[in-house]
Amino acid sequence: MTDVVNNVPGEVVDQGGVQAAPRQHEHSRTGLSADALQRAISDHLRYSVGRPAAALRPEHYYRALALAVRDRMQDNRVASTQVSLDLDKKVTCYLSAEFLMGPQLGNNLLNLEIEAAARTALAALGQDLDEVLACEPEPGLGNGGLGRLAACYLDSLATLERPAIGYGIRYEFGIFKQEFADGWQIEHTDNWLANGNPWEIAKPDVNYLVNWGGHTEHYIDDAGHSRIRWVPKQVIKGVAYDTPIQGYGVKTCNVLTLWSARAVESFALDAFNTGDYYKAVEEEVTSETVTKVLYPNDEPEAGKRLRLLQQYFFVSCSLQHIVHIMDDLADASLHELPERFAIQLNDTHPSIGVAELMRILVDERRMDWDEAWAITVQTFGYTNHTLLPEALEKWPLGLFGESLPRHLEIIYEINSRFLDEVRAHFPGDVDRVRRMSIIGEGGGQTVRMAHLATVGSHAINGVAALHSDLLKASVLKDFYELWPERFSNKTNGVTPRRFLALSNPGLRELIDRTIGDGWLTHLDRLRGLEVYADDPSFRQQWRDVKRANKARLAEYVRSAVGVDLDPTWMFDIQVKRIHEYKRQHLSALHIIRQYHRIKQNPGLDIAPRAYVFGGKAAPGYFMAKRIIKLINAIGDTINHDPEVNRFMKVAFIPNFNVQNAHLIYPAANLSEQISTAGKEASGTGNMKFMLNGAVTIGTLDGANVEIREEAGAENFFLFGLTEAEVEQVKRSGYRPSDYIDGNGELQAVLGLIASGQFSHGDTEVFKPLVDNLRYDDPFLVCADYASYVECQDRVSAAWQDRDAWSRMSVLNTARSGKFSSDRAIAEYCDEIWNVGPTPVTR
Ligand SMILES: *Cc1c(COP(=O)(O)O)cnc(C)c1O
Repeated sequence: MTDVVNNVPGEVVDQGGVQAAPRQHEHSRTGLSADALQRAISDHLRYSVGRPAAALRPEHYYRALALAVRDRMQDNRVASTQVSLDLDKKVTCYLSAEFLMGPQLGNNLLNLEIEAAARTALAALGQDLDEVLACEPEPGLGNGGLGRLAACYLDSLATLERPAIGYGIRYEFGIFKQEFADGWQIEHTDNWLANGNPWEIAKPDVNYLVNWGGHTEHYIDDAGHSRIRWVPKQVIKGVAYDTPIQGYGVKTCNVLTLWSARAVESFALDAFNTGDYYKAVEEEVTSETVTKVLYPNDEPEAGKRLRLLQQYFFVSCSLQHIVHIMDDLADASLHELPERFAIQLNDTHPSIGVAELMRILVDERRMDWDEAWAITVQTFGYTNHTLLPEALEKWPLGLFGESLPRHLEIIYEINSRFLDEVRAHFPGDVDRVRRMSIIGEGGGQTVRMAHLATVGSHAINGVAALHSDLLKASVLKDFYELWPERFSNKTNGVTPRRFLALSNPGLRELIDRTIGDGWLTHLDRLRGLEVYADDPSFRQQWRDVKRANKARLAEYVRSAVGVDLDPTWMFDIQVKRIHEYKRQHLSALHIIRQYHRIKQNPGLDIAPRAYVFGGKAAPGYFMAKRIIKLINAIGDTINHDPEVNRFMKVAFIPNFNVQNAHLIYPAANLSEQISTAGKEASGTGNMKFMLNGAVTIGTLDGANVEIREEAGAENFFLFGLTEAEVEQVKRSGYRPSDYIDGNGELQAVLGLIASGQFSHGDTEVFKPLVDNLRYDDPFLVCADYASYVECQDRVSAAWQDRDAWSRMSVLNTARSGKFSSDRAIAEYCDEIWNVGPTPVTR
């Protein structure tokens, strides 16, 4: 190994610059050339990693390169802050309990446009960039779509040069790691910080105290006014960790601030003085528990108090930080908060912010209520992400009052004034008042967080056209009737930087060669590909790229689960959280049907397909975990049956995350988006597939509706009941047997599962699943079965015509421009946040 540490190459010897090449002058903290990067890596190996040359492994080069890249972003970060302060620019604050960022190094190299330089620099040090990139652990601080959306939006905000701060929680353990044992999901803790995190900068001096529990009391202030003060039971400290967020091809570098919980030293001292040393240590342990672990979705009620504390903790720290910045602005007073900051609530998780801002303004800043309320409503916006009743957050009143006694009083006051407004608008409509109350009745009183968020925001939006319409017609109907002007739609988007340029370099190159590279920031320009959809040589290149991506995924699947996939086959992929509403089991039924047809008729001519799955089930979600077991069991049977495995294979990729998503989306021919209509708010996986040239089989749900509109109905495989039909079927008393009894094939498929065909004769293991489908089927799997398999037959027929399929594939990519998160963020900025571009020039 070369002695890179002791013999630093390219050291700038000639400060006068007479003889040295100009780029030799680039600073090793900021220079973007391969040479400057090489010096930066060498410096960090010596001064930050601090290991002898002989002991350097790729992970150390990863750390050194990451630090070198962070230096370059940090420089932009300082300039970005300065410019937005100098110009009094309004800042967007995106509050989200989850940010599913994915690996940072590759994306930051891409956004700084120094990927080639980094590759050269590493090569000069005897290292391979891809090997170094593979050393980065996944920062899995989110469950799925909602957290990934927040990450895509940070990328677009920076790329569109909008000043922004992402605020969230620095979970010590992210989403669990998924493994399979005998086909069952096993969860492992995700210790993502084990080897440190080179991207974050700890800011121990940026810290705030957060109260919890206790009671409130009245007192008379200096001016003789009656006031209320909160006497907490516990105080926790929040410390900021900042991660720079670099825009693509611009100087703008924003920040993601994540809060980490600490014990408050003075409390510990107190206990120490009374001799209770261990009590003090215990205090520390409980305080730091607050940001210990991310809650998986769909978990039952248990452990709720800590979740409320997590939410309040990060929201309180964030709002205190914002108010602190306002105080530091010489020319601004808190009355101008809505002109300086837009605060977006990503779902109801941060909605306690409405009451917290009121507490800060009224109790701490002694502002009068009406003024404080006007400021609050003007500052907040609320994005709703779900219509599923079980996913709408409600806190039991008792728990809420014990935890946040002052906030409960404030919420009562907000509610009382709000309900007066409702009564004034709808005199005598007592039932409406009951429906709209922030305090829910029935099954014990609750605080309805969606109502709090709605009442406290000037703008409320859904995340796809259909979802926003349903929101106005169902969950928030009464609110829409009161304030129609507050409601709008902002269809989700995904960043084309990570989900095309970074993860599909082959396609990026082909597109660049064909229409130039402007599409990466103006995704509508992909339309320029339409005219090549009928060009035979272009189609061939298009197929070659897809083939290479499938080979890359096949290699990964082989090493992960030992299943051999043939890249000439159709890759039919469904990756997303495992949930009954997403209907992975509908897909499973179709696979069993195909298996059954081949077994019945071994001469059958079937276009071979690889069925690929990925996704985690919430650890406590019984049915979802059984669906995973079923798919693995089917795969085991099919993959080992020589009569069948010539036509089909099934692979469940363990631990679906952003890192392996990079390999998965670009390899798909067919994208499965088969949720029960009306249940998927938007979906973003559907957009990533489309962007990468997959054709969708899907229901009219979430953004599928708009994907089909954009792609053209002839380039989309539609099946299933519409949302209106789903509601109709349910209203008239849905009985799955009505669909099973008349369908011999479906009977046979369910019978095969029940008979133990895929479970070595065990008839118990899948009984709950089969019984659920036969007797309950809340997501209408049986009702949509016939339509789905008929549609799959059309897919198979279409696949036989390679050119026609390639045409559909090209047109899907060409027409995916709408689904850029740049478009979505531009809409939020123009229509909700009123935040314009602030170019940074240095
Ligand atoms: C995009 C994405 C999701 C969301 O997928 P949907 O199909 O929209 O549910 C979930 N997890 C990861 C890792 C993703 O990249």
